[in-house]
Amino acid sequence: MMKESIREEIEDFVLSYHDQHSTVTVWGSPIVGFASASDPMFNLLKSAISESHAMPAELLHNARTVVAFFLPFTEETAGTNIGGGTPSPEWDKAWTEAWKLMHDLYLHMESFLKAGGHESVIMPSRHKLDLDKLISDWSDRHIAVIAGLGRFGLNNMLITEKGCCGLVGSFVMSAGVEPDPQRHHEACLYRYNGECMKCIERCVHNALLADNFDRHKCAEHHCGKCLVGLPCSHVDPVQKIMA
Ligand code: SF4
Ligand code: SF4
Repeated sequence: MMKESIREEIEDFVLSYHDQHSTVTVWGSPIVGFASASDPMFNLLKSAISESHAMPAELLHNARTVVAFFLPFTEETAGTNIGGGTPSPEWDKAWTEAWKLMHDLYLHMESFLKAGGHESVIMPSRHKLDLDKLISDWSDRHIAVIAGLGRFGLNNMLITEKGCCGLVGSFVMSAGVEPDPQRHHEACLYRYNGECMKCIERCVHNALLADNFDRHKCAEHHCGKCLVGLPCSHVDPVQKIMA
């Protein structure tokens, strides 16, 4: 019940945001996953990402659950950004508005949970990113994998059942709910059968290669070309093959 009410609250908030805030951008229906705050995979992030990667209990002393969500962009928004080497104006706008939506969503969920007697917290953004290494101390995408939302693609993005073209967020809460199962099948065609690599072709800045990702080069352009017009942009392409 608690899980469903949190899912519905996040979905309703996202789907009504365009009308309520007169945004240019329209979003697809978000997907939401839940992980236990004591899942042993959180420990592994310290070695996989950085020793300073936070544990849920470091953010909230009575943490029981980590909630992750994926906020999909529509095919229309993504379509404006295919081609070239710089982000389309619509794409830029969509990101700016999506960050604002995420911020408002966190505040909304904080009050929603508080009304039910639960605490919640997000990782303060100033602590999130090591500006030299461009590595975060709270990796929403890795956390979303633990919460069962998807698997990583060759483009370093989380591929969910609604693809990879969107934003991932997460928060920690004191309420305990049943965790969702993690995805065990690959979601990226290259990782599944060695084919595709369309995301690599898209990166005209050579930041994304099959065996290397240059974060600094990517950050100079931040163009999002490796998210759009791909077999994995709006669906899990492996799930499609397996269906
Ligand atoms: S474009 Fe192809 S290779 Fe790249 S992440 Fe998507 S499925 Fe994987
Ligand atoms: S890896 Fe970075 S530079 Fe390359 S397409 Fe993706 S966002 Fe653009």
